[in-house]
Amino acid sequence: MSHEVGLEPLKPCNGCGACSAICKRDAIIITENYDGSLTKVVDYSKCNNCQACNSVCYKFIEATEYPTLDDKTCYAVCSTNRATHSTTTSGGFGYELARWGVEHGYKIMGVEYDLATNSARSTVASTLEEIEKFKGSKYLQSYTEQAFKEIRDIATQNPEQRFICFGTPCQIFGLRMLINRLKLSNEILYVDLFCHGVPSYLVWRPYIASQEQRLGTLRNVNFRYKGNGWHHYSILIEGERKRYCNYAYNDIFYRYFFDNVALNRSCFDCEFRKGHSAADIRIGDFLGRAYESREDGISAVIPLSAEGKSAIDELRAAGSIDIVGIHSAKEALGAQSTEEYDNIELRNSVIRRLEHEDIESVQRWYFKQFPLKRRIYARLKSLATLLPVPLISGLRRCVRLKR
Ligand SMILES: Cc1cc2nc3c(=O)[nH]c(=O)nc-3n(C[C@H](O)[C@H](O)[C@H](O)COP(=O)(O)OP(=O)(O)OC[C@H]3O[C@@H](n4cnc5c(N)ncnc54)[C@H](O)[C@@H]3O)c2cc1C
Repeated sequence: MSHEVGLEPLKPCNGCGACSAICKRDAIIITENYDGSLTKVVDYSKCNNCQACNSVCYKFIEATEYPTLDDKTCYAVCSTNRATHSTTTSGGFGYELARWGVEHGYKIMGVEYDLATNSARSTVASTLEEIEKFKGSKYLQSYTEQAFKEIRDIATQNPEQRFICFGTPCQIFGLRMLINRLKLSNEILYVDLFCHGVPSYLVWRPYIASQEQRLGTLRNVNFRYKGNGWHHYSILIEGERKRYCNYAYNDIFYRYFFDNVALNRSCFDCEFRKGHSAADIRIGDFLGRAYESREDGISAVIPLSAEGKSAIDELRAAGSIDIVGIHSAKEALGAQSTEEYDNIELRNSVIRRLEHEDIESVQRWYFKQFPLKRRIYARLKSLATLLPVPLISGLRRCVRLKR
């Protein structure tokens, strides 16, 4: 049983892991919940009700006290290294910052895909070889517990050690609260992401298990393969026997993700997703009209503090990034999922069904619940993928420009 220590729960746990890292009695672990999202579990035989866990938890701290994004400047950025640009999610800013960090003695917290457990894991890296694994978004909730504890221990032992930490906005908020609460003085640059929300492992696990059965032992999972054009969102999974590559419109995992029917409960009204941030820099895809014709990917980079701005200046001065445009953050946010998701009832029904039905039949069921217009639009998008890539891109641009 998991619940707040001594207080009524106000919002659902987002599994950020800060409570586990601050607990001196090791009374809290982060584990996968019945709904396939990460959540804390408290061992009350160890808990002495000290409330340290609540002091770092987003449920008890107003997110709205943290800066809003929409009054900031947004840089449109891409890596100057072609190989980096083609193997990263958008413009490769995340990788270039991590590389600069390693070269200047920072430790980097990022997320890698763990093929052994088929899950996303936050880890702490010190070398160029290690940060290679951070390239590319893994559209899953990452396990942060071990990484947060490692940062806590290294920072406690060595106040001179500097860090650059990447995570979803809720994870970065939790980490900052942890470091503040422990009064650690280390220099830390916090970087969060524009976030659509994180999908349930109840979808990912059966999906990837069936892929593995068909493709053989998995070698690589690329959630954002750019070979079909960046705007089209393709997934590429390579096994020892075969490879699978498909457009998001036709891929069952991606459809659950973008249909918002199996996201973590806490993502639905998340203030950080909607526009607040505890980070120094927020990064994401520069979607929308401005770079509609760029199929190689452009990063949207919003500095939120003087430290964030100076890191961007350093990368530019070092020649690792090109700033291809300067915009208002409002413009970049216009194409992001910053609205409150209003289909929580459908999401809960989907989760209940996923507990005992296969992902294909649950998908057929939930699709029928959508209004007719939405179903027709989804079918048209799926049919459009039969066309050659340049034609799909042209079609998509026409539809966008008409809106
Ligand atoms: C769950 C999720 C949802 C997202 N939703 C949106 C969205 O709605 N709109 C948008 O514009 N962008 C979104 N992004 C961010 C986007 O996909 C890119 O990560 C971002 O554009 C940075 O690209 P890049 O080329 O600079 O990064 P890269 O150089 O490819 O580096 C990727 C960075 O993301 C980090 N990362 C990878 N997976 C995860 C994860 N699971 N959790 C936390 N950090 C991770 C890595 O550590 C690395 O630092 C999302 C990312 C995730 C993980």
